[in-house]
Amino acid sequence: MLVILCPYCGVEAEETELTAGGEAHLERFGPSSSDSEFENYLFMRKNEKGITFERWHHTYGCGKWFHAARCSMTMEIFGTYPAQTSKPPKKLISMIKKKRPEWGEGK
Ligand SMILES: [Zn+2]
Repeated sequence: MLVILCPYCGVEAEETELTAGGEAHLERFGPSSSDSEFENYLFMRKNEKGITFERWHHTYGCGKWFHAARCSMTMEIFGTYPAQTSKPPKKLISMIKKKRPEWGEGK
């Protein structure tokens, strides 16, 4: 079972207290975008094997959305951070690179 630290309330929440929200850091496109941009925003996901950045909701806790860096192969959680960021924190990226030197950000 996944145990993920909520960066807002500090609770180490089991996955049954959380709701997965899909890929983090999506660029949003609205009504003025092209059909192709809007379609990609709605349906296209990286679905990466390895390090992935995801949205999580602390549903049975503080009720806030946050982001988590997780390995989709080993299920290791590298860290969590507030959802109001457009990119993962640099400190988290360097920690992941230290643990997984073969990982290339954005691959
Ligand atoms: Zn929380």
